[in-house]
Amino acid sequence: MGVIVAVDGPAGSGKSSVSRAAAVELGYAFLDTGAAYRALAWSVLEHGGDPEDAGDVERALDGFAFTSADDPAERWVRVGDVDVTEAIRTPRVTAAVSGIARVPAVRARLNDGFRARLAAAEPGVVAEGRDITTVVAPHADVRVLLTASPEVRASRRARELPEEDHGAVARSIAERDAKDSRVVDFLEAAEGVTTLDSTDLDFAGTVGALVAL
Ligand code: C5P
Repeated sequence: MGVIVAVDGPAGSGKSSVSRAAAVELGYAFLDTGAAYRALAWSVLEHGGDPEDAGDVERALDGFAFTSADDPAERWVRVGDVDVTEAIRTPRVTAAVSGIARVPAVRARLNDGFRARLAAAEPGVVAEGRDITTVVAPHADVRVLLTASPEVRASRRARELPEEDHGAVARSIAERDAKDSRVVDFLEAAEGVTTLDSTDLDFAGTVGALVAL
């Protein structure tokens, strides 16, 4: 097994872009676990299902074939042979994802897939999500909680979504964190997890701090 770097954090903390850049710098694989939850939410909607209905979610989970790029320089995400890289980032999927993520069968199934990918990664992997440091890979070599103030997270996310209203983006982040943190606790660092607060750091500074750890 290679080196495992586990990064958790709330919505808009920059964990995806920071983890990806750190993986490039380290020559490691990259795993965005949120993309798998998003891809399943997309599948539920695609089948005309209700993301709040555990039965519909479990039906979509049946035969759910998620793949994504290991190479941090690539960005593709697929369900079967459908490329969903862009489709999983729409506000509709973002609003649906917390509902499917609280179904225990979903977490168990996706976690098995994540652990298999972590075990196969050589010479290492940076994996990010909400419960990587605590549930998926509590024995990871490096465990980091990436945080930033709510204001900074909202403005970073608003910059990525220029067509959305700033206040709506801030509300959507707060709502999603509130729902998600009822399922897994990523608001406080677990024992042995290093908190990296990026509120006053720029992107390069945050990547540098993660690589240093
Ligand atoms: O990280 P991202 O915002 O793309 O994650 C999308 C959603 O997937 C989260 O809001 C959460 O509901 C779910 N998620 C999760 N556990 C993870 C990663 C993501 O429950 N490890």
